[in-house]
Amino acid sequence: MSSVKIEEGDRRMIGTHGEQTYPHECCGILLGKMYDEIKVVEAVKPLDNARTDSKENRFLITPHEVRQGEREAHRSGLEIIGFYHSHPDEVASPSGYDLENAWPWLSYVIVSVIHGQAAEFRSWTLRDDRSRFDPEEIL
Ligand SMILES: [Zn+2]
Repeated sequence: MSSVKIEEGDRRMIGTHGEQTYPHECCGILLGKMYDEIKVVEAVKPLDNARTDSKENRFLITPHEVRQGEREAHRSGLEIIGFYHSHPDEVASPSGYDLENAWPWLSYVIVSVIHGQAAEFRSWTLRDDRSRFDPEEIL
């Protein structure tokens, strides 16, 4: 099982972002360092959900924002190691939509926001064959 290290402050920032955008999904980029078995989050970059519809159960990060995130990461000697988003009034497990829109290796952090309050906090990685997500240990 792979693992990802996320400081308490960054977890809180993600939870708070999900509470602020409730009942819509929030989203953002995780910047950090990737080692063999572990990824370390060094910074969290909140973004606006670029979806124009279905914001309650879909999120979109534009290629432009990913490029900007990459530039920002490189300036600080970091890389994009994953993405986060919220699930308003849903469990923190990836949806079919999430499966279709994910890339292997990266961490997908999902926070469930129940009645406007951040609750379950989990991380997932996509298998190389893109068949499913596996849970990731959060340190
Ligand atoms: Zn999702």
